[in-house]
Amino acid sequence: MNAPSSKGRSVVIAGGGIGGMAAAIGLSRAGFRVTVLERAAEFGEIGAGIQLGPNVFHALKTLGVAEQTLANAVYIDKLIMMDGMTGDKVAEIPVDEPFRKHFRNPYAVIHRADLHSPLHAVNLADPNVTLLPNREVTGFVQTGDQVEVHTSTGERFTGDALIGADGVRSRVRESIVGDGGPRISGHVAYRAVLPIEEMPEDLRWNAACLWAGPKCHMVHYPLRGWKLFNIVATFHHPTRTTEGHNEPGDRDELLSYFGHLPAKPRGILEKSRNWRRWVLGDRDPVGNWSDGNVTLLGDAAHPTHQYFAQGACMAIEDAVTMMQEVRATPDDLPGAFLRYQEKRITRTARIVLSSRELGRLYHAAGVERLVRNDILGSKTPADFYHSLDWIYGYGRDAA
Ligand SMILES: Cc1cc2nc3c(=O)[nH]c(=O)nc-3n(C[C@H](O)[C@H](O)[C@H](O)COP(=O)(O)OP(=O)(O)OC[C@H]3O[C@@H](n4cnc5c(N)ncnc54)[C@H](O)[C@@H]3O)c2cc1C
Repeated sequence: MNAPSSKGRSVVIAGGGIGGMAAAIGLSRAGFRVTVLERAAEFGEIGAGIQLGPNVFHALKTLGVAEQTLANAVYIDKLIMMDGMTGDKVAEIPVDEPFRKHFRNPYAVIHRADLHSPLHAVNLADPNVTLLPNREVTGFVQTGDQVEVHTSTGERFTGDALIGADGVRSRVRESIVGDGGPRISGHVAYRAVLPIEEMPEDLRWNAACLWAGPKCHMVHYPLRGWKLFNIVATFHHPTRTTEGHNEPGDRDELLSYFGHLPAKPRGILEKSRNWRRWVLGDRDPVGNWSDGNVTLLGDAAHPTHQYFAQGACMAIEDAVTMMQEVRATPDDLPGAFLRYQEKRITRTARIVLSSRELGRLYHAAGVERLVRNDILGSKTPADFYHSLDWIYGYGRDAA
């Protein structure tokens, strides 16, 4: 499947998350030798879930990895929004047969490790890909048509191009965009995974369910053949202004922000004692994230709040577009990167900006909450499909 890399073209990728792994597969498929430099001691993902919209199924198929990456996915029946104050259902989007027919793919949820490991395995088995953990990228120097990438180990890696797939606090982005740290929204997310036995029986739904409360919301869905439930609880914190990533959570802090919700949803949060905390940030979209033969991908390029559940899906879509563009002009990587970003900027910026709005809708209070319920509650499945077409319909016609 790989194009021959006879000309010895090579690319260095900073970061081996979902975006970096997908990019490595795409670039190898396009005929490049790839070196992935990962800061962590091991390639892997955190123990939490992720939602996969139909758009990412198209992307995974185009990369040629759909079968293995979706082997452990759970195919849910609906997306549900509940009013966290009354416990009433606000809206439901069936993701059953008509949805699948409309978007030509289903909606699924999956454990992150079950998505990342198969991507990692494909790269591990690929002689054109070298995976190096314990290599934090600290900087790079562009010399002619080469890039020399520096790591904290003191090593230098040279390639024809560098892809910064190093997440929301990207070092590569610092040099290209230079827009400082992420924009901290004051939204804090706690994550935990519950064994199915601990999930209240009357909430074991085959759905991605969101409870929307004033200044907070929580999401739950099943994982791993229904052995686990993924829980994400997000709330406004008045003073946390420093981005935090996968810190140990404080259960009492979490519960104190959900005291105004009824016992049914709040009870889920009381179950886990193993919470992890993220202080969330995104970035204002930019109109350029490339500099010659260096570019960005995934959260490094367009970090977003998780409210459309699309950040990782966007990173995988990025990898597909990158593969297609470098394959089209392998001898002109700067040109390929400009076309790549041109195809990705509007779409990813729309996700970032719309996610901010969606967060406001989820966390609405007072009359705004009533208006939200009125608007969403009156929509038919066809209305929802139509309004979500721009996200989920992407790639449908190419599939
Ligand atoms: C609460 C929450 C829920 C979410 N839910 C969903 C969802 O349901 N669906 C969805 O599609 N998305 C979701 N997302 C978004 C998704 O997690 C991210 O968009 C996605 O993981 C981004 O992948 P990435 O590879 O670009 O970046 P990352 O996952 O951040 O990976 C970056 C990698 O680079 C490494 N790295 C960092 N700096 C360096 C360096 N200097 N040198 C070398 N390596 C480095 C890191 O160790 C890491 O391995 C959610 C996010 C949050 C916070």
